[in-house]
Amino acid sequence: MTSHDRTRDDTLPRRGLVKEVTSLANPVIKDIKALSQKKNREASGHFMAEGLKLVIDALDTGWHIDTLIYAISAKGKPLVDKVAARVVAGGGLVLEVTEKVLSSITHRDNPQSVVGIFRSRWTPLAEVKPNAGETWVALDRVRDPGNLGTIIRTADAAGASGVILIGETTDPFALETVRATMGSVFALPLVRTAAADFLKWQRHAGASVIATHLKGAIDYRKPDYAAKPVVVLMGNEQAGLPDDLAEAADVRVRIPQQGRADSLNLAVATGVMLFEARRHLLTLDDR
Ligand code: SAM
Repeated sequence: MTSHDRTRDDTLPRRGLVKEVTSLANPVIKDIKALSQKKNREASGHFMAEGLKLVIDALDTGWHIDTLIYAISAKGKPLVDKVAARVVAGGGLVLEVTEKVLSSITHRDNPQSVVGIFRSRWTPLAEVKPNAGETWVALDRVRDPGNLGTIIRTADAAGASGVILIGETTDPFALETVRATMGSVFALPLVRTAAADFLKWQRHAGASVIATHLKGAIDYRKPDYAAKPVVVLMGNEQAGLPDDLAEAADVRVRIPQQGRADSLNLAVATGVMLFEARRHLLTLDDR
């Protein structure tokens, strides 16, 4: 990046350039702010992620940054300059913005100093062909962004192969969810599907579908998780699993509980299940 690569006005910026933007009325800033709404993320196919580490991890795992935005105060920091140069070299747009612009984009008073805009990626269910040793998570109508983000992060940490979202779910590319994934949104394939299509797929997927259910008769530690690839199927936060999904599963398991709580939080139950399902595959030598 050289000094003549820079422009300094609030008209529409060109790609492969670094541009300083100070106005909230700039049309590019308006488009980026619009990504806080699901309908605009769906229409544009883009989402935003905050934080320098997360943006570097995304680049390192092969994600293309469409637009990089950073606070003017972060200019000159070696890692920020390096990321900006990579984005410019890849034909992306780089915007240096004021703290005020960054706060309005991220809806935070003390925003992270770097934000990346990425193209959302969905993996079609038909492309999911679980192999031996693979564990997938399927979530029925997950509602809570924090739960979904935590589950994606936990699935990544447990070595799961991906997350299948069944039915009407919260958006994994919402800013709050992306924050909760701590970067794991870039690491795992995400699939969305209707319940009927999931049921058709599971008949031929060659995996054991292990449903979790508060009425499950089998202790979650009993199934042989090593026999086949596994899909751990989790229910909605309020309603649990509907009968059609629960009955079509190979087995319905329950995590024994003591105390007064009716059930575990969905993300916690998913974590317990995943680490049990992959217990035979996880060792302290993994990293
Ligand atoms: N009222 C709901 C019900 O009756 O199922 C509670 C749902 S619970 C908060 C959300 C999901 O977490 C459940 O559908 C199930 O997948 C999982 N879960 C929570 N506690 C569990 C337990 N003790 N055993 C098995 N699954 C559990």
